[in-house]
Formats: sequence, structure tokens, C-alpha cells
Amino acid sequence: MQVTTMYCSGCDHEVAVVMTDRATTDAQANVTGEELACLEVGTNCTGSLCPLGAAESSDMVHRLIRHGLPTNQLTRVSGYCDACGLESELALVGENRASCLVCGTTRPWEALL
Ligand SMILES: [Zn+2]
Repeated sequence: MQVTTMYCSGCDHEVAVVMTDRATTDAQANVTGEELACLEVGTNCTGSLCPLGAAESSDMVHRLIRHGLPTNQLTRVSGYCDACGLESELALVGENRASCLVCGTTRPWEALL
């Protein structure tokens, strides 16, 4: 994997991105090859479409999880994921949505604190 920096017009600064290797874990699924994953998703991200990867921020988070890339930068909350049935950590992505850090499923999220 190759880490580089690119200018992101979405958050208006240079961000660290990774060009991932071909995914091997679910190769027979819908993963066709290399993809761009932003390592700064969730920090200064506007939460809308990422201009770098042409993907929503939730999809970016899913890419990080799928490729085993760091997700420490994300705002985490504990919660129950009904997709994998586990009490897990969820990363907040975009407005009122969270991605499960175990299975990558994104679903609506409301802070109930
Ligand atoms: Zn899950």
C-alpha cells in the first residue's frame, strides 16, 4: 500500500490517502481492485461526497475497515450493531450516521446521551 498526500477540495487542505492493494478478504464480492482510501475521513470532513474517492464518507470508513487501515482518527461511540449482532465500536460518519468498526455496516445514528 502506498501512502501519499492529495489536495482535497472537500475540506480544503492536503490529506493523507492510501492507494490500497487489491483486497483479498472478500475478493469474490464487489471489490474489483485498487481503491483510494482517505486516512483523514471524519476529522475535518464535511460528511458529504468525498471528491478524492468519489465516495461517501461512510464508504471511505468501510474501505479503511476492509483494508485494515487505522481508524483511530474517527470519533467513536459504543453501540449495538444489528448487522453483526455485537456490542461494538461505531465510528461517526457524516450527519447522524455511524459505521460499525467490526463489519463496516453504516446505519442511522442518533446520539442518545
Ligand atoms: Zn457490525
